[in-house]
Amino acid sequence: MPTKINDLNKFFGDFQALKDINLTTEEGEFIAILGPSGCGKTTLLRLLAGFTSPTDGEIYMDDVLVGNNKNSVPPEKRNLNMVFQSFALWPHMNVGDHIKFALQHHRHMKRLSGAALDERIDEVLSIVGLEAFKNRLPGDLSGGQKQRVSLARAIAPKPKLLLMDEPLSNLDAELRIEMRREIQNIHNITEASIIYVTHDQGEALAMADRIIVMNEGRIEQIGRPEEIYSNPATPFVATFVGKANLFKGEWKDDGFQPENTDLIWHNSNISEDFMKAGIYPLRPEQISLAKSEGGMLKGTVMTKQFQGKEYHYSVDVNGQTVIVHLPLRENYEIGEIVSIEPNPN
Ligand code: ATP
Repeated sequence: MPTKINDLNKFFGDFQALKDINLTTEEGEFIAILGPSGCGKTTLLRLLAGFTSPTDGEIYMDDVLVGNNKNSVPPEKRNLNMVFQSFALWPHMNVGDHIKFALQHHRHMKRLSGAALDERIDEVLSIVGLEAFKNRLPGDLSGGQKQRVSLARAIAPKPKLLLMDEPLSNLDAELRIEMRREIQNIHNITEASIIYVTHDQGEALAMADRIIVMNEGRIEQIGRPEEIYSNPATPFVATFVGKANLFKGEWKDDGFQPENTDLIWHNSNISEDFMKAGIYPLRPEQISLAKSEGGMLKGTVMTKQFQGKEYHYSVDVNGQTVIVHLPLRENYEIGEIVSIEPNPN
């Protein structure tokens, strides 16, 4: 379902949780809202759901005004459903009955009964791979299976928009990766739009069509995962997504001069925000080390971690800790003095 948010602000008393939010999403789009704890992700999702109203600004869904500071269409009258971090299942109700209950209490699905009702229950259970678990109680399911039940329950009434608030954060690391595929599959089959809140950059990069990166109540950048990763608009995005090291210095006509050096690092693809802040971002894999040479930026290897395909080093550069990832054949020892420069690739 296409949504549009215009100049939205949200205050709790004197505290401004959301600042000047503008956003347009397309039919069927998978949007991830990514940001650190407290940046306003859940508040934005709750406004979209209709649990709370904006202090000012408007929210449109399917071109219809659903929320401003005077009127708010209640959640059950918006064509959407939510999936939460906690699975919110009833202990005494089996899997099939959870889906049945969701259908029987839905505005548009109430009239479904008999064979049609059973058919829809089986259909959604097969989408999430739980056909064989229809008669199980939640207590006899694994964490991943419980989250599948809550996904099935959310998609059962065929909402046009699914709002998901950190749905995978109660699952262990391996299962979280498996469930990413599950959610992509649900997105493909149902064709519903998804707005997915997470603080996990891996989830956002892996699943979303577009990512909204938020910080302190503001949108820092909106873009496709590839854009956000390769062309971060602000120093915050560069560090939050991809853990860039931020080097201080001065941008000149021919490139960047790191502090306390007369070197020039070239980069033709850097946004205004970095120029103004005098910052050059380099991800751990974008840095080369070499045996120390005169005239280069120097550092001391502080830690070295074996990570299977590569070593992860931390290097002290004039008091700044710089993280560098290198293939195993590039081997340095703790205490070694090294030269640091942007990797030419
Ligand atoms: P997390 O990832 O930790 O859930 P979040 O990005 O979802 O964080 P929100 O829950 O949206 O953050 O909260 C944003 C800010 O608004 C926080 O500082 C929070 O304390 C504040 N806040 C949220 N709800 C209320 C409320 N009802 N009253 C007062 N302050 C609130």
